[in-house]
Amino acid sequence: MKEIIKLKTKYDPFNKYTLDFALKKYGLNAVFAEKESEVSKNLPKDSENIVVITNGSVPRKFVDDLGHFKKAYLTDVQHAHMDEVKRVIESIRALPVKPAKIIGFGGGVALDVAKKVAKLCPIGNTNENRINDSFIVVPTAGSNDGIISPNASLFHNGMRETLSANAPSKIIIPLYIWDKNWKNRFSFSKSGVCDVLSNLTSLQEWNLAIRRDRELWTQKDIEYLIYALDSLIYITEGDLTSEKRAMGLLSSSFSMYDPKLSSRPASGGEHEIERALSDAFARESKMLVHGQGACFGSLIIAKLYERESSGLPDNLFFNPKTLYETLVNILKQMSLHEYVKEPVSEIGKDKIISALETAPKIRERYGILKEINYTKEDWKAVLEEII
Ligand SMILES: [Zn+2]
Repeated sequence: MKEIIKLKTKYDPFNKYTLDFALKKYGLNAVFAEKESEVSKNLPKDSENIVVITNGSVPRKFVDDLGHFKKAYLTDVQHAHMDEVKRVIESIRALPVKPAKIIGFGGGVALDVAKKVAKLCPIGNTNENRINDSFIVVPTAGSNDGIISPNASLFHNGMRETLSANAPSKIIIPLYIWDKNWKNRFSFSKSGVCDVLSNLTSLQEWNLAIRRDRELWTQKDIEYLIYALDSLIYITEGDLTSEKRAMGLLSSSFSMYDPKLSSRPASGGEHEIERALSDAFARESKMLVHGQGACFGSLIIAKLYERESSGLPDNLFFNPKTLYETLVNILKQMSLHEYVKEPVSEIGKDKIISALETAPKIRERYGILKEINYTKEDWKAVLEEII
């Protein structure tokens, strides 16, 4: 990680852009709850004008066990789909009282739906929401780095899209639940860490786009670069506690807070591969865990940097010849290497290769996928090299 720390010091010698700085700047109240009573203490008083959105039996049980909400309106969502957003909004409109607060409990599905509901629901304007903590999230697993971003990843018109939504004004992180999940090697927790690790390639991709004059880099962008670098430092330096995982995810989330850059610092070609794989999984009626797919994408992208290193510009953020090796070493140290390669055994090599063939066309964003013109045989060779 020396490379990352060196890079951070180069761009931010006075260490200005810290997580505390971001929390203050964006007005996010982050609570690191060590026990259940601290979660309850930081939730608003139970009331009929509170809407609680959960997804699945585990977050719902978590809410029930808290015993905090007796009067609030509880609703469980099944899919990260605009139809679910519309259904929740309709049921909210039918309530006898106008909602004043929305709270999302769960993983990506519950929080993405809650973010969009918070944007569309008539609970007042965004500024008021932020002052009154009208929109709170309680991520029960920390499965991806979008937990506090002002975007929601939702299926819409048959495709998964990144839609503008509301960012929460408060996040309560139940560290004791995250600890338990991590010890059980629960895949949603591993997914979050993998999503952060994928920043290794997204940063390299961003830098490639700048070096190729495809994107402009301004002094202002350094702030978001630093958050992405910090997220990697939190996750990889020293022991990985649930608190450091939380800080890594928050920091990575802040790297995507600039509306102009959107998700750029934390989403390069590895996320295009994740999307292509996710579609391939959906066709098999299977679900790909986001961070797992993104980090699998990182293995592929890092391998491409290694293979294509002779034609790449000098002084990219990371040495293209060693980026793959660095990523694999980190994954092995964290016992995540086999986990990241699981998508191959899940749907088989042929379907993975077909997905890789479609990845360069997923979106316009510039990266190494735009510089290669691989045949099926080439992709097959790349896949063999990483498994
Ligand atoms: Zn991601």
